[in-house]
Amino acid sequence: MKKIAIFPGSFDPFTKGHEDIVVRGLQLFDEIIIGIGHNQEKERYFPLKKIIACIEKTFEKYSNVKVITYNELTSTLAKTHGASYILRGLRNTTDFEYENRVAQVNKYLNNQLETVLLITSPKYASISSTLIREIHRYGADVRAFLPYKL
Ligand code: ADP
Repeated sequence: MKKIAIFPGSFDPFTKGHEDIVVRGLQLFDEIIIGIGHNQEKERYFPLKKIIACIEKTFEKYSNVKVITYNELTSTLAKTHGASYILRGLRNTTDFEYENRVAQVNKYLNNQLETVLLITSPKYASISSTLIREIHRYGADVRAFLPYKL
């Protein structure tokens, strides 16, 4: 059976840290679906369409990486796409506290769904979308943190 993983997140923006998790995840899974959680009422900093296009460009050579947007439970999304795994990244203990809670809830919602947490590569450990938004807001160059040109 094909091993399909959902990599859910806000990806506002999608960073080199996220790219690294996807590329390493491809060693484990046959297909990765990057799911951009999107709530119409919640405004994003970077335009959604732009980020989708940038992620697609980043993985244009990979036919087994897809990008979708969603506004539902990740466990429901996984079911719809035949995914048995949720892929997430871990940078530190704060991430762990959060990911642990979310993984427990997802297990409760769908016992067949496994969460796989990949530890960040040290060189990307300090990259966060929040930080990128903060410095971009004040006009700083964020190109070093992104796998594509904005
Ligand atoms: P969310 O808002 O759902 O936390 P993010 O877009 O911030 O979504 O992150 C998606 C996933 O990627 C999360 O599991 C997060 O911990 C992980 N992640 C974010 N930045 C990095 C990084 N630099 N290295 C590894 N994992 C990361």
